Amino acid sequence: MIRGKFRIGNGYDVHALATGLPLWLCGVKVEHEKGCVAHSDGDAPLHALCDALLGALALGDIGKHFPDSSLEYKGIDSKILLARVYDLILARGYHLINCDITIALERPKIGTYIDQMRGAIASILDCDINDISVKATTSEKLGFVGRQEGIASYATVLIGC
Ligand code: MG
Repeated sequence: MIRGKFRIGNGYDVHALATGLPLWLCGVKVEHEKGCVAHSDGDAPLHALCDALLGALALGDIGKHFPDSSLEYKGIDSKILLARVYDLILARGYHLINCDITIALERPKIGTYIDQMRGAIASILDCDINDISVKATTSEKLGFVGRQEGIASYATVLIGC
């Protein structure tokens, strides 16, 4: 029995970057010479968002629902994973109030993609674009993000019923 009108969740995901792979961020293909190494399409911010939604209702994590050992999920579009996760939320009587996503990457600059990313997520979650925040930050050249070896993403959600 899940009690409470509001529930909060957070998610975190990391993927390594490699030359010659497509870079998918928040459901949008971003022009870059590197992309994420992954079993799926490697969309780290969408994976963080999935984990935040699942976390809000204590439903485990994305790896539990979509194991990377399963061929079914090889190369899968993470927008499909997000839609499936959100179905679990809706089935329990909850809906998104808002979400806030931060993408940590050194390059490329993604400012011109942000509204497209917000729109892609809003369309999957059938909500207003103003309920979806996507932000980007560099890591000031520090650590694996700073060395452009990988990207990290954080997501926070509030859901209500
Ligand atoms: Mg992931």
